[in-house]
Amino acid sequence: MLSFKDTIILSISYIYANSKPAMSENLIQKILEFQAVSEALEPSENERGHYVDEVHEYANAFLKDLKTSKAYTSDKETPNVFKISQNQKSLKEILELYAKEVAAKGIKPASGGHIGYIPGGGIFTAAIADFLADVTNEYSGMYYASPGAVTIENEVIDWMKGIFGFPATAIGNLTSGGSIANLIALTAARDKHQIKNEKIINSVIYMSPQVHHCIHKALRIIGLEDVVVNYLELDENSRINSEDLKNKIEADIQRNLEPFMVIASAGTTDTGAIDPLETIGEIAKKNKLWYHVDAAYGGFFILTESKASKFRGVEMADSLVIDPHKGLFLPYGLGAVLVKDKAAVYHSHHYIANYMQDAVNTNNPINPADVSPELTKHFRGLRLWLPLQLHGLAPFVACLEEKLLLTHYFRLRLIEIGFKVGPEPDLSVSYFWYPTKDDNENAFNEQLMQYIHDDGEVYLSSTRINGKFVIRIAILSFRTKIETIDRAMIMIDKALIKTKQHNPIINSK
Ligand SMILES: *Cc1c(COP(=O)(O)O)cnc(C)c1O
Repeated sequence: MLSFKDTIILSISYIYANSKPAMSENLIQKILEFQAVSEALEPSENERGHYVDEVHEYANAFLKDLKTSKAYTSDKETPNVFKISQNQKSLKEILELYAKEVAAKGIKPASGGHIGYIPGGGIFTAAIADFLADVTNEYSGMYYASPGAVTIENEVIDWMKGIFGFPATAIGNLTSGGSIANLIALTAARDKHQIKNEKIINSVIYMSPQVHHCIHKALRIIGLEDVVVNYLELDENSRINSEDLKNKIEADIQRNLEPFMVIASAGTTDTGAIDPLETIGEIAKKNKLWYHVDAAYGGFFILTESKASKFRGVEMADSLVIDPHKGLFLPYGLGAVLVKDKAAVYHSHHYIANYMQDAVNTNNPINPADVSPELTKHFRGLRLWLPLQLHGLAPFVACLEEKLLLTHYFRLRLIEIGFKVGPEPDLSVSYFWYPTKDDNENAFNEQLMQYIHDDGEVYLSSTRINGKFVIRIAILSFRTKIETIDRAMIMIDKALIKTKQHNPIINSK
């Protein structure tokens, strides 16, 4: 067999023999010169082996350390040690830098001790899928380019349709996260109801004041900044009061406004509340409103025996958002949207450009590019499909049930040492605060939060509920275990003692 070099020499002599030598010699010489340099982008099998081994070794050390290291370091400063310079670094140097300046600072989302913002953890086998998707670099935007990859993407979406009781005719998309998924859903609602031009300022959207802020961002992005947003009253569990929804719709119609959409949450970010999905669905249907459900955080709890009934009515939604990088514990970078009305989605996203004419075949399955602002995208479906095939669904469901019980356990442990806790949570988000005698309760709890952050053993965040400063728990990392909660309790107890010492006047009620 000819070696690579021989082939090149042969081709060169062939070209020499068939063209004007003066020009070709120069041209070919240059190409080969560049080739000699650009070949560095294709490491040899041996080099690849070394790279993979080094990263594997780093990953092992990182995961081992995760069990005992703090979930948060309040060191917020990072000097720019990442300046891209002409001095190349070895992978070993890069990994050392990464460990010191990236992985060791801020919140550790891979840690089970991350129970502040809604975490997922990031299961390892999804990273294996990403590795495969990246090495093969499948083009998952169009069926024509990679029927296999797009079939996997569509299979993952069909699987979710099944879980949430959506019809086979619904379409969906795997997005980078919940924010883009919400954007796609709200765009479809806008286009279905043709909310444009002078219609915008008379059109009404109903939502809880506790909807995730990405809903507001999406409305601005899609030109609905000036739409009427009518916030609904909440009950004592922070769920939408559906009677209030009915009344507000009637009143708005009386005022010649045009209600067109209602947004419910299945697991709010602040308190994990699930709105009364079925009742809201019935009201939406009766009034011909687009019904959107944001279940980015809570959605996959529908798989649990203990919470499934709370999701009754979710199947009535016109559009639904779920985040596998939360409820299915994937590494960041996977949200999903399901929409029943294909035409509404296609209005904004389906486009045929001349240079894509080879890819058009109306008999083909749905192209992800027709359901999203993205054309070229990462082959995200694999990072969910592969772990599901590898582990089966049972460990995922058990993990969700475990998180619910851990939330209950955490609350009981907090009550034991004098904390007050928020109402019985719908899911795995809750909050607590330490009651004090005087009106310095907020200041006391803020200081407590500060000490907890300074410690960082376990990461908790805070929020305000009706003006009250509270510490929030969001248990969703697959790595959060009962041992993690016990460690959190030791940390909280220490911080509480310290806060009391610094506030001699403030005694517990
Ligand atoms: C997390 C979350 C979002 C935003 O999703 P990202 O994946 O962070 O973009 C939207 N809605 C709810 C209810 C969420 O919990």
